[in-house]
Amino acid sequence: MTYRIYNFNPGPATLPLPVLEQAQKELLNYRGTGMSILEISHRSKDFEKIVEAAENQLLELYQLSKDYRVLFLQGGASLQFAMVPMNFLSAQASADYIITGSFATKAYEEADRIAQVNIAASTKNNNYRNIPRQKEIKLSHSSAYVHLTSNNTIYGTQWKYIPDCGEIPLVADMSSDILSRALEMNKFSLVYAGAQKNLGPAGITTVIIKKEMLEKVSEALPAMLSYKIHAQANSLYNTPSTFAIYILELVLQWVKEKGGLQAVENINREKCGLIYRVIDESGGFYRGHAAQEDRSMMNVTFRLPNDDLEKRFVEKAVKEGLSGLKGHRSVGGIRASLYNAMPLEGCEALAQFMEEYLKRNG
Ligand code: PMP
Repeated sequence: MTYRIYNFNPGPATLPLPVLEQAQKELLNYRGTGMSILEISHRSKDFEKIVEAAENQLLELYQLSKDYRVLFLQGGASLQFAMVPMNFLSAQASADYIITGSFATKAYEEADRIAQVNIAASTKNNNYRNIPRQKEIKLSHSSAYVHLTSNNTIYGTQWKYIPDCGEIPLVADMSSDILSRALEMNKFSLVYAGAQKNLGPAGITTVIIKKEMLEKVSEALPAMLSYKIHAQANSLYNTPSTFAIYILELVLQWVKEKGGLQAVENINREKCGLIYRVIDESGGFYRGHAAQEDRSMMNVTFRLPNDDLEKRFVEKAVKEGLSGLKGHRSVGGIRASLYNAMPLEGCEALAQFMEEYLKRNG
């Protein structure tokens, strides 16, 4: 058997083993073509089928009607920070941003270069430990859209409700929790996500967009930055990241085989519950960063009593086959990323490791 560890990296991240195995199996001869998927033309029927299947599977998993399109773009979620305002904000328009962490701030700053943007709520003063409640969100009436970050990868917080924004279109960066839970996706007008956490390898960004938003796209944009042009070309306006889209389509099939989003959510809840329980029962040895009610199911962030204990925790974990646990520098401590492909056994192993580490050092 191939040597595999439990990979808790925040992204690029662990991928489902059956997906990697299938890619390996068909790498030299993609389904009888005599060519690798890495070699086939993006204009071939075989590849067009993959793009179409990926779009349809994603719509199906979220029970979205044909009012939506799915696009596979490049430039990471970071390019979306700019594309969203470029497509929907004319010089006179403005948008509302909810600031819950570093990536939300980046999205805001990028929009701020392009047009007028307002901060509708921010949890910066609390070092991003929490998500604003509905009554704390102050929307401006003339807003073209409201932007939020559904899961804050660095701080380990996650929205548990979808805010009511009335008629204003809701836009979300779901890079680190897309496909992780059943969600009323039809409450969003546009969602984007870099693939390298729950969707596949780095190199593509998925955009789920309501067709009526496409009608609002500015005509003055360069083609590569226009959602409308990418939608008209079925994500094949230029050469896309073909291999990444192929893997993404396999990941979507894998999610479907697992029983869909509700089934995946149930497992994810159980997985993070194992780690949060150890934190809560550690008598203060492990201190979670996020407020309890806003804890992320995807990124569990916590501190230990001092830097030395944290450093040794990470080093010892690696020796036990638990990798990628060092927290982001802005929070410090430990971050365990538990994306869909992290098996329950990986979380059991981490929980056990944490209990033993506490016994020796607590
Ligand atoms: N948004 C979120 C929530 C993220 O976690 C990340 C990356 N970790 C980004 C945006 C930036 O993504 P990319 O590197 O694909 O531009």
